[in-house]
Amino acid sequence: MDKKIPHLILTVDYELFGNGTGCIEPCITIPAKRMLEIANEYSAKITFFTDAIEFIKMEQEKEFFAGILKIKKQLSESVQDGHDVQLHVHPQWMHAKYLNHQWDLDFSAWRIADLKQEEILSVFEASISWLENVVRSENKSYTCNTFRAGGWCIQPSEKIVDALQQVGIMMDSTVAPNFQNLSQGEWSNFSSVPNKPFWLTDSDVCSETDTGIFEIPIATGKISKLKHIQVLKAAKKQGMAKGCIGSYQGPDGKYQVIKGKMGKLLRLGNVMLDFSTMTSDVLIEITKQWIEKYSHVETPLPIVAIAHTKNFTSTSEKALKEYLSWAKREGLVFSTYTNWLGVIDD
Ligand SMILES: [Zn+2]
Repeated sequence: MDKKIPHLILTVDYELFGNGTGCIEPCITIPAKRMLEIANEYSAKITFFTDAIEFIKMEQEKEFFAGILKIKKQLSESVQDGHDVQLHVHPQWMHAKYLNHQWDLDFSAWRIADLKQEEILSVFEASISWLENVVRSENKSYTCNTFRAGGWCIQPSEKIVDALQQVGIMMDSTVAPNFQNLSQGEWSNFSSVPNKPFWLTDSDVCSETDTGIFEIPIATGKISKLKHIQVLKAAKKQGMAKGCIGSYQGPDGKYQVIKGKMGKLLRLGNVMLDFSTMTSDVLIEITKQWIEKYSHVETPLPIVAIAHTKNFTSTSEKALKEYLSWAKREGLVFSTYTNWLGVIDD
């Protein structure tokens, strides 16, 4: 294989809404099935960043038994088919209570970076053990080696990177260059990161060090403000995956939400490579920009795309098909973090 051909890594955050709303089938397993079917048509690979801790909590409630079985089956079969399952954590679920058929989550634990070191380690250990149990029964060689923080809330990251190293995770894929969220309860700031497609870090994920785990950021790029407004409007109109009902309500009060929205307006024109909400022309444009920006890099370029099952609509399906068809014509390698790491390590 030509060592310089870029690797397209399609990632999907596999979870309900951050406040515990939504139902398993319409918000997770049905849209995930569509993604897998489309990916399989093009021999593309999907990596499901699975919020194991929420499924661990659901598993304790009878009402969710059938749904959790579907999730386990889907995750295990995906890996059998060459897709991947990796670690995602929304720690507000750690002490979740199910009362009157509603989840009561701990919003004070929204940001994993705000937890104590021992809590971070314990949620990592529980989640990895759950994922490995689910996947390894049919896939003996499976390892959980990559992490993405829930809500991009990985900063300050020193404790987290340390805990990731302790549990054997080798890659993080949380950073979205140039993005920041100003809302107090869910803040993140990736406005200053190395001008590289990946780097090593042993403490701050936004700084490069000589040793540590790989930071493999989500691909981001620029489109015109007008185009961005059009895309946002279209995504709002599309709404959620068919039959998926829930709310994006977060840990902050009204003022912080407005502040967050204002921040988003200021960043108009900066987009992530998001195949739930972007049109195929934007996906292609951002991918081309990423390839061009790092054309001097000698190792295979990882291009990390992101999506969510809950907002993967029939319009997203069309965009994904067009995008994958383009990527295939361009000769990009459809890959996973593990495959990419294998090539880098050669
Ligand atoms: Zn998430």
